[in-house]
Amino acid sequence: MTSSRPRLFSTEAVVLRHSDLGEADRLLWLLTPQRGILRATARGARKPGSKLGGHLDLLCHVRLSMREGRELHSVSQADTVDAFRGVRTDIGRLSRGLYMAEIAQRVSVEDAPAPAVFRLLVNSLGWLAATESPDTLVRWFALRLLTITGFKPELGACAECGDTLEPDDHVFSAERGGLLCPACRSQGADLLHPASLGTIKVLRHLARSDYPEVASLKIGGEERRQIERILRAHTNAVIDRGVRSAAFLDEIRDWPDVGPVPGGLRSES
Ligand SMILES: [Zn+2]
Repeated sequence: MTSSRPRLFSTEAVVLRHSDLGEADRLLWLLTPQRGILRATARGARKPGSKLGGHLDLLCHVRLSMREGRELHSVSQADTVDAFRGVRTDIGRLSRGLYMAEIAQRVSVEDAPAPAVFRLLVNSLGWLAATESPDTLVRWFALRLLTITGFKPELGACAECGDTLEPDDHVFSAERGGLLCPACRSQGADLLHPASLGTIKVLRHLARSDYPEVASLKIGGEERRQIERILRAHTNAVIDRGVRSAAFLDEIRDWPDVGPVPGGLRSES
C-alpha cells in the first residue's frame, strides 16, 4: 500500500472500552455512527491534566477529531457531548452500561456504518442514568439491538416450521432462533428454554415498544428469569456467529485488490 497524507475526520463516538498503551497513552474502542467500531489511540491521555483524557472515559458520548491511520486512528481533539454521570457514578448502572456497550461492540463490524446501533446506545445510556428499572432497560436494549442488526428472535410463529403458535406455554431455542411449536421442540438436541405464556407476552411487548412505554412494566419473578435466560442465550448465539463473520470480513480486507470500504472515509458534520 502506498503511503498517503494523513487524513483528518471528525465524528461522534461512544467510548466502549479502553486500555493503557505505552507510558501515557490510551487505546480506545469507539462506536461511531458512520464507521461502526473504530480503534484509536489517544496520545498522552493518561498524563495528569491531559486535554484529551478528561473526555475519554468509559461510556462517554464525545465528539472527536481524528487522524486517519491504517489500522489505528489517533484522536487529536475531544469534546464531551454527554458524560452520563448518573451511569458512571453508580456501580450497578455502570455494569449494565458496560454490558450494553459490550454486546453493541460484538454485533457491530469495524469500519461499517452503524447509525441505528449508535443512536440506540446513546439513547439507552441516557435512560440508564435515571431509570428505576435498569434490568428491563437492558432486556429491551438487547432485543432492540438484535432486531436492528438483523438477528431478531422469532416470537410470532414457530422458528422451525413457521406455524402459528397457540396461546400457550412454549420453548425457546437459541440455536434455531426463536420459539418452537410442540411438534418441532422434540426434533433436535438443542438446549430448550421454557417460555410461559406470560413470558411470551412480555417478550412481544418489549419487542414492539419503545423503552419509555415499557419502563414501568411490572414483570413477575418467573417471567423475569425466563426472559433473562432466553435473551442471554439468543445474544450469545448471535455473538458466536458474529465473531466468525467479522473474522471473514477481516480476511477480505487483507486481500491486496480490495480498496477501502465505500463510504468509509466520509466525515460526519
Ligand atoms: Zn414448528
